[in-house]
Amino acid sequence: MNARVERLRGLLTEPLLVTAAVNVRYLTGLGSSNAALLVEPERVRLFSDFRYAEAARAVEGAEFVQTTRDLVAALAELLDGPIGFEAEALSYADHRTLAGAGLELVPRSGLVERLRAVKEDGELDAIRAAAAVTDRVYERLAQERFTGRTERELARRVEGLLREEGADATSFPVIVATGENGARPHAVPGERTIESGQTVVVDAGCTLDGYASDCTRTFSTGQLPEQLEEAYRVCLEAQLAGLAAVRPGARSRAVDAVAREVIDATGFAGAFGHGLGHGVGLHVHEAPTLSPRTSAEETLEAGNVVTVEPGIYLEGLGGIRIEDIVVVGADGPEVLSPFTKELLTVE
Ligand code: ZN
Ligand code: ZN
Repeated sequence: MNARVERLRGLLTEPLLVTAAVNVRYLTGLGSSNAALLVEPERVRLFSDFRYAEAARAVEGAEFVQTTRDLVAALAELLDGPIGFEAEALSYADHRTLAGAGLELVPRSGLVERLRAVKEDGELDAIRAAAAVTDRVYERLAQERFTGRTERELARRVEGLLREEGADATSFPVIVATGENGARPHAVPGERTIESGQTVVVDAGCTLDGYASDCTRTFSTGQLPEQLEEAYRVCLEAQLAGLAAVRPGARSRAVDAVAREVIDATGFAGAFGHGLGHGVGLHVHEAPTLSPRTSAEETLEAGNVVTVEPGIYLEGLGGIRIEDIVVVGADGPEVLSPFTKELLTVE
C-alpha cells in the first residue's frame, strides 16, 4: 500500500471513512466528486460509482467497490461497527443516514490534513511551479497602467495573466483593492476606479497540477499620504520578522506573535486584524495555521509550506498587505515569491 495510507494508519484508533474529496485524492490519486475511502488495519476499500470505476480500479493497494450514485446510502448498507468519520467533511444528513443504519460513528478531525501539511519532494516541486507562475504575473503586472482602470478590470487582467503564464486555474478569486476598499482584508473587487496617490492591494494565486500558490503585493499609484507610507514600512518590517522566525520547531503562534509585535509597537497597533499565515498545498488554505488562536503546542515542521502575510488596514484610508509563500526548510525558509517587496510605484 502507498506510504500516505501507511502513515495515516499509524494515526488511527478505529477504521477511518475518508469522505473529503481532497483527502481521497491525496491518499489515492483519484479525483472524484463522489468517492469514499475506508482505511482499516488490514484492508483499504475505495467506494465510488460507475463514472469513476475505471480510474478507481487502477488505484493500487485499494479494493474498488462500485456503488450506486447515492454513495452514502450504499455505505450505510455495506459498513458496520465503529468507524471514524471526517467531522469537517460529512454533512449532517449523511451522518444521519449512516447512524440510522446502525454504524457506530466516531468524529475525527485533521488526520489526513496533518499528513498533507508535511509535503513530499514532488509536492514541493508542484508548489514551486505554481508560485513561479504567480511571480511572473506580478513582474508583468508591474509594467501595466493601474490608474483609470477599475478594480474589477485589473482583477480580470490578473486572471488572464495567470492563464497566459501557464496556470490551470486561479486558486481563489483575485483580490484587487484600492483606496478605502483596501482596508478590507477580503475585499471584493468592484467598480471603483483606481486613482493616483492610493495603495492597490493585489492578492492572487493559481493552481497548477493540483497544487496552489498564493501571493500578495501592495502597489502605490503615486505620492501616498504619509500614514500609508509609514504603514507600508512597518508592514514590511513585520513581514521580514515573521519570515525570519519560520523554521522547523518554531511554535506557530510564536511566529505570528513576532510579526504582530512589530505592528503593535507602533501607532498601527490593532490594525492587523487576521492571522499571519496559513498552509498551502492541494488547497490554498490548509494546515498549519499561523495565528494567535493556533494551539500553543503546534510547531512548524520541515516540509510545511506556509504564507507570511501581515497587513495594516486603515479604515477610510487604505490597506497594505505583503504576502510571501515559503517552504519551511531544514536550513531556513525558502521563499517561493521573489518578486520585490519594495513599495513599487505604478502609473
Ligand atoms: Zn493571498
Ligand atoms: Zn494567503
